[in-house]
Amino acid sequence: MKLMDGKAIAKQLREELAVEVTEMVAQGHRPPHLAVILVGNNAASETYVNAKVKACKDIGFESSLIQFPPEITQEMLLHAIDDLNENEDLDGFIVQLPLPNHIDDKTVIERILPSKDVDGFHPINVGKMSLGLDCFISATPGGIVELLKRYKIETEGKHCVVLGRSNIVGGPMAMLMRRNTYPGNCTVTVAHSRTKNLKEICLQADILVAAIGKPEFVTADMVKEGAVVVDVGINRVDDATRERGYRLTGDVDFKGVAEKCSYITPVPGGVGPMTIAYLLNNTMIAARKRK
Ligand code: NDP
Repeated sequence: MKLMDGKAIAKQLREELAVEVTEMVAQGHRPPHLAVILVGNNAASETYVNAKVKACKDIGFESSLIQFPPEITQEMLLHAIDDLNENEDLDGFIVQLPLPNHIDDKTVIERILPSKDVDGFHPINVGKMSLGLDCFISATPGGIVELLKRYKIETEGKHCVVLGRSNIVGGPMAMLMRRNTYPGNCTVTVAHSRTKNLKEICLQADILVAAIGKPEFVTADMVKEGAVVVDVGINRVDDATRERGYRLTGDVDFKGVAEKCSYITPVPGGVGPMTIAYLLNNTMIAARKRK
């Protein structure tokens, strides 16, 4: 088994972006600028947002963190988005999800200008991706595809099983793996909570992407010998031996599955760092269009 080291590949990608920022600035352009909107005080969201802001700083991007209290009205949030859409000092921005219950995610996402939607969640970007047109590809599936590419994983003609059909991970991942390009050209099966015979379907996978949010759900008996396994899950499980009282684990039982597969991503250190690096990559794509 070989580890697909998302941490190392993300570092490589960030270093490449940092070189490009230096060149950009040397040519008299301003560096790429990403803004992040955070509503409320969800601890996990705060951690993700801080990591994104730090990642910007580390490679010379500008970043802005815009925080609103949980009781902000949807209308006020939409106004803030309008301002960012018009702000020419900004290349792209994201609204960290989840939002409080009184705010409709879809309305918020649709308000973002597609050309600044570096999370790739706007229906225009999703639609373009499904048609294979130039667009922002959302960061988690985009990061996974980049990881497969850098490990030169063969995908053509392979059976890719995607566990999970969410709009931010499973859905776009399936679209990307069925594209007529590399990485892609897979025969794709999307499984979800209503899927019957899940184990039999997983056992057919040459490439198995687990994105369901269930700790260590995928066990060795569900994985074909030699499969490539991508673990997207980030789950907190109680662990009294850790100072913070929990540990992070993926959707895959790493120990058991690692013995059977050809490649596997660890959690942490796999898809997570690639997601952040790919968001930076999307921001650079937006900045290149501005020049
Ligand atoms: P969602 O909860 O939005 O979607 C989960 C999907 O899994 C749904 O399609 C659901 O089916 C399916 N599912 C749930 N239980 C089962 C089951 N027992 N068998 C088969 N399918 C099942 O989650 P996300 O897609 O947002 O995230 C998935 C995981 O990835 C989470 O652990 C999340 O923390 C992690 N994540 C990691 C990121 C990273 O950067 N590494 C980024 C984003 C997410 P149905 O549609 O029928 O409900």
